[in-house]
Parts: sequence; structure tokens; C-alpha cells
Amino acid sequence: MTTTISGSLERVAMAGHMNAVTLGNRMSRFSPLAAILIASAVFLLDTLTTLDIAIAVLYVGVVLLALNFAGPNGIVLVGAACMGLTVLSFLISHSDNLIELEDSLARCLVSLAAIAITTLLGYRLKTSMNVLAESELRYRTIFLATGVGILQMDFSGLKDAIEKLKSDGIRDIDLARKLDPGFLNKIPKTVRLINANETALKIFNAGDIHALERMLPTIITADMDKSWKFLAAIWAGSPSYEAETVINDAEGTQLTVLYNAAFPADRPALDMVLISIMDVTARRETENQLHSARMELTHVARVATLGELTVSIAHEINQPLAAMITNGAAGLRWLKRAEPDLAKVQSSMESMVADAKRASEIIKNLRALSKKSSPVASHVNLNDVLQETVALVQREIDINRVSLQFALAADLPQVCGDRVQLQQVILNLVLNAIQAMSQTSENIRNLLIESIAHERAALVKIHDSGPGLTPETREKLFSPFYTTKPEGMGMGLSICQSIVTAHGGSITANSLQGAGTTFEFTIPVKTEAG
Ligand code: ADP
Repeated sequence: MTTTISGSLERVAMAGHMNAVTLGNRMSRFSPLAAILIASAVFLLDTLTTLDIAIAVLYVGVVLLALNFAGPNGIVLVGAACMGLTVLSFLISHSDNLIELEDSLARCLVSLAAIAITTLLGYRLKTSMNVLAESELRYRTIFLATGVGILQMDFSGLKDAIEKLKSDGIRDIDLARKLDPGFLNKIPKTVRLINANETALKIFNAGDIHALERMLPTIITADMDKSWKFLAAIWAGSPSYEAETVINDAEGTQLTVLYNAAFPADRPALDMVLISIMDVTARRETENQLHSARMELTHVARVATLGELTVSIAHEINQPLAAMITNGAAGLRWLKRAEPDLAKVQSSMESMVADAKRASEIIKNLRALSKKSSPVASHVNLNDVLQETVALVQREIDINRVSLQFALAADLPQVCGDRVQLQQVILNLVLNAIQAMSQTSENIRNLLIESIAHERAALVKIHDSGPGLTPETREKLFSPFYTTKPEGMGMGLSICQSIVTAHGGSITANSLQGAGTTFEFTIPVKTEAG
């Protein structure tokens, strides 16, 4: 398999060079013979004829021919041989004839100079060609053998399409998305895969570059949200774009890949975009396992704490309650006598009141205890909290292929509250939304997070495109321990409600069954948390 891939890769990579190489091979096979023939002809002409021209200059042609088959040192040898032949011809033709010696010597020197200069230039050319060939070989080796998948792509068609939108007066990519949501589906027709290295083919499980090129439409539309962000980077003229996304390989296996697209500044037409890709599936799976193990642990810990708390509350309150029952029963007995002993009844009732006071004291203490961990109030920008909280669950968003959109009010007033508790509210609502949408089809999982500035409050809306709420769920939504999930605790929304209420705000849910749910909560601007 590997050999086939590398073989086909070699073929494609070399395709452009093929004709030149074949031509070069043919020339280098015949060039030595041609060079010898030309050198012999020039030598004979130069030695035997008495023409008043510098025939030996023609040796320049021999040196040039040698460029086809000799290395830098070979060029020097050929040049030296031609100069030697020139001198030899001069000596032979003037050994017994000293007439016009000066003119001949001048012609001989001109020829020698021409051959020497050509040899020198040929030597330099050959040396730099060797350096170039070595560097090309080095980069080709890096390209083919690196552990990072590399795609060389031509985005000039896409760039033209974007320029066309701009010239049609479309201001930004968001508007383009609204006007033509299907634009992404047209992209595969505007981009070309020029080359891909072996690692890239392996990552995508593609047999060859053509198979990989056929996968482009699925890759591009796998994660619409990221693809639109990719387009936004090109639209803005960014030098690069990096993201992590989940895609399927040629055999349908789900992969998590980290990719970086570099748009070189010296190729503004985007005809050479390099995309480097790393398969991080295994790494993310380990992280996910760790994450769910941690979640499970927290869940167990929470249940355990709840259990412990219940036992101690029951223990503390049970005593005064038991005493109240005993005193109540005693009081009743004194009342039921033929002659009720009112003094005893009074004392029983006084004891009951004392016991009830003790019970209420215990509850007061418990409340005081919970007050100790009361919210830490500070000025909070809910837009920041929304963004940082969603970043915590970005992985869940990616894995569940949820398309996320923010619509945050730039003029959102700061609220006074406990950042961590507000984070907990948002986290609960977002996770509930993601879980609700896991039942719906992949291409309609939309999560919209909105913040709206009200006169004296900040309003946050979390819309999902899940199944909505049934009448029963709607009624019990905020009740503790109400859950429809097999693993649920049913505490999330009731905790959200108590946090929001403690901040002086309110939380509500609206839903049309089958058309998603919107949770919205307000936090007043001037409230002091707690
Ligand atoms: P849990 O998530 O443990 O079930 P919650 O109090 O967070 O506890 O939620 C209670 C119930 O409310 C959930 O089991 C679910 O039935 C319903 N619910 C919450 N959020 C949504 C939502 N976005 N869409 C549909 N149902 C929801």
C-alpha cells in the first residue's frame, strides 16, 4: 500500500518534470559524441585552413554542449581541452611559417579568452544548478516524508469568487453567508488540489491524490462553521488560518484534525496555498476519556456529598422532631383524661415549642453555613463570561457537530455578580442544549448565544434547535431532581434558577415542541450578589 502511494505520489510529483527530463536524457546521451565531432572539425579547420578568422572561437559551442552531460569539473576539463587544442593548432600551423604571426596570435588569444569566459560561466551555472537541485531534493524529501500531512492547493478560483462578491457590494462574510448559505457547496469547483504528501493521503485514507481530490466536497462541508471562518480569514486577507475540526476519512471513520492554512503574501492570487494537517484523533480520545472520567468522579462526589448532607440533616432534625412527637402524644394523653390536666398539657406544649425552635435553629444554622460560601460579587461582563464558558465546552460542540453562533451586544452593561456561579448557569444551559440536539439530525444542530442590553439588566438567550419541551417537562423544568435523562440528576436547572434568583434576576424557558428551546435569563445591572 505504502509503496503504491509513494509510487503514485512520485509519479504525480514528477509529472511536470517528465518531458524536460526525457528530453534532457536524450540530449545528454548524444551530446558527448556531438561535442567530440564538433571539436574535431574545429581542430581540423583551425589547423589546416588559412582563413583570417578566429575559427577556434567555435570551441565555445563544445563547452556549451558539455553543459548537457558534464558536471562543474567536467566543464573545466572540456574548456581546458578546447584551449589546449587551440594552442596546439596555433603551434602546428605556425611551426614552419612565421608569416602573419601577430594576427594569428591575436586571433588565438581572442579564441582562448572566449573559451575561458564560456568555461567560467558554464562552471558557475553548473555549480548553482547543483545547489538548486540539492535544495529541491531536500525540500521534496521534507514534503514527502514529514509526519505532517501537507496539501498544496490552488485557491485562485475561490479568491476570484470572493472578489466578485466584494465588487457586488457585499461588505462582509456574514452578509455573504446570509445571502447565499449554499456558497460553501460551490467551493469545491473553485479550488484545486495540486499535490499532497504521503502523510496527507494516509490521514484521509485516500489511495492517491485523485481520490483525495474527490473527497474535497465532503471535507469542505463537514464543519460548515469552521469552513465559514476559513472563508472569513481569506476574505480579511489573513496570512493564515488554523482550526481543529472533525471530518470523515475515505472509509467514513471519524477523525479529529488540526490544520493550518498558509496564504503566502507573495502569492496574492492564492494559487499556492499550503495546508498542513495533523491527525489528533487519538490525542483527543484520550483527553475525552480523561474528561468523562473526571466528570464521573465529580458526579459521584456530588452524589456522595448530597448523601452525607442528607444523613447529617436528617440526624440533626430527627431529634427535635422525635421529641415533638413524644411531647405531643403526652399532651394529648393529658387532654384525653376524664379530667384533663391542663398544667401538664401546657408543659408538653411548651416543650413542643422549644423543640420546634431547636429544629428551626438547626435549619437557620444550615442556611448560615450555606451563606458562608455566598457569591463573591464583582463587576462582570457577561459577554466575556459567555465566550470563556463556551470555550470550555468547545470540544463537546465539535464532537456533536453543533454549529455555534454568537450575537453579542457590544453595549452590554456590566453586571454585579459571582463570575463562577454565572459560568455555572451558562455551562448548564449550553450543555443541556447540546444534549437536547444530539437527538436531532446533524445538519440542523444550531446553537445561538445572544446577549441583549436592557435598560437596567443584561439579558442572555440560549437558543437550540433541539426537540423542544413537552408540556410535562415545561411544567417541572426547574424542579429539583426532575430529569428525562437516564444519567441525569435533574439538579442543573434548579441550581441555575437559584443562582439567577440570588443575583436578583429571573430565568425562563420558551419552546415550540419540535422547533427548539430558548432559555433566557436576566441579571440586573446594579444588583449585589448574595
Ligand atoms: P439534567 O440535565 O440532569 O436532566 P436539568 O435540571 O439540567 O437536569 O434538566 C432537567 C430536564 O429538562 C432535562 O432532563 C431535560 O428533559 C429538560 N431540558 C433541559 N434543557 C433542555 C433543552 N435545551 N431542550 C429540551 N429539554 C431540556
